[in-house]
Amino acid sequence: MNIHEYQAKDLLKSYGAPVAAGAIVLDADDAATAAQGLPGPLYVVKAQIHAGGRGKGHFKEAEAGEKGGVRLAKTVDDAAAQVKAMLGHTLVTKQTGDEGKVVGRVYIEDGADIDRELYLSLLVDRGTGKVAFIASTEGGMDIEEVAASTPEKILTLPIDPAGMTAEDAIKLVEALKLEGAAREDGLKLMPILYTAFVEKDMSMLEINPLIVMTDGHLRVLDAKVGFDPNASFRHPDIEQLRDESEEDPLERRASEFDLSYIKLDGNIGCMVNGAGLAMATMDIVKHYGAEPANFLDVGGGATKEKVTEAFKIITSDPGVEGILVNIFGGIMKCDVIAEGVIAAVKETGLKVPLVVRLEGTNVDAGKKIINESGLDVIAADDLDDAAKKIVAAVSK
Ligand code: GDP
Ligand code: MG
Repeated sequence: MNIHEYQAKDLLKSYGAPVAAGAIVLDADDAATAAQGLPGPLYVVKAQIHAGGRGKGHFKEAEAGEKGGVRLAKTVDDAAAQVKAMLGHTLVTKQTGDEGKVVGRVYIEDGADIDRELYLSLLVDRGTGKVAFIASTEGGMDIEEVAASTPEKILTLPIDPAGMTAEDAIKLVEALKLEGAAREDGLKLMPILYTAFVEKDMSMLEINPLIVMTDGHLRVLDAKVGFDPNASFRHPDIEQLRDESEEDPLERRASEFDLSYIKLDGNIGCMVNGAGLAMATMDIVKHYGAEPANFLDVGGGATKEKVTEAFKIITSDPGVEGILVNIFGGIMKCDVIAEGVIAAVKETGLKVPLVVRLEGTNVDAGKKIINESGLDVIAADDLDDAAKKIVAAVSK
């Protein structure tokens, strides 16, 4: 789960990180009052969407102006005008895809005079099984580009789970070439970020850029935070920060039914049990020349109702031209799957080809239910056969 930049900054501020004063605006009429509450004379007006690259992005609508989603303003009136220009318009960045994202919230922030832009992030490093810092003097740009062209400018520092040490913080401030007040700020900031990351079960915390201001101090200028959804039950405060308008409506519906569903761009809807089998199913669909429309793991103990809902979610994706049900019933029972599929088809109708491959617990009962349903289902014997059949069915 992701949150907005201003929410991430609020959170980091509560841990003691240096962030600018700012105000969030949801209604253009409130923009001038919001800006007036800030010290000035420089304001930064920032579109809040769950995607990066806003500064270099562009708006689809002409009335939003030529500039991107991060704009400097020198007066309260200009700040308010920029808020108005952005609100309700569609911002396209490298991370949003061509369709872009509609800006529903704009953050006005006290502007900083920047001396240097640095890169700092924390993530879970699966290689070492530890939380790791990534630090680079090359901030404000795409870290992937830095990694490709000048990897020597990036420090990856895994932190021992026993806790972050003073030596770790020193390594980081030295990699960032921080001196004087900025070095002191950095030595304080590193353990703050580590604590926030661990306590809040973050999966990613990216500050790009972390800046050295002309007054010599550090400031968190941008913040992107992702949380481990498996830990969300421990953090009702974070759950409240959810912005449902940023989420895919099908994914949101799936999460209400506790289904692991990820929307993709392809044409074959997949209903599978088990994450591993779901991945393998997607691979084999691709192997035979089609693209999966989703990842979906209905889980082991799914009920008929859950299966019905899963099937409805798949069929309500307009990109789906065919459906592949691939169940290896271990804990999951094939007859429950069959009943769920049939219940869903009765409700919504079946407008695309459906290939069903059932194997495992209660397979005979499952096949019988499907055979006697009168549905136009293409039966398959194994994964390979199933993938070939669905790809052939949609390419007719
Ligand atoms: P992103 O484009 O979505 O990554 O948004 P950022 O928050 O990283 O802002 C993009 C760029 O805008 C930064 O790299 C800075 O160069 C510039 N910027 C953002 N805030 C300020 C500020 O307070 N003062 C100045 N001078 N530039 C800023
Ligand atoms: Mg940024």
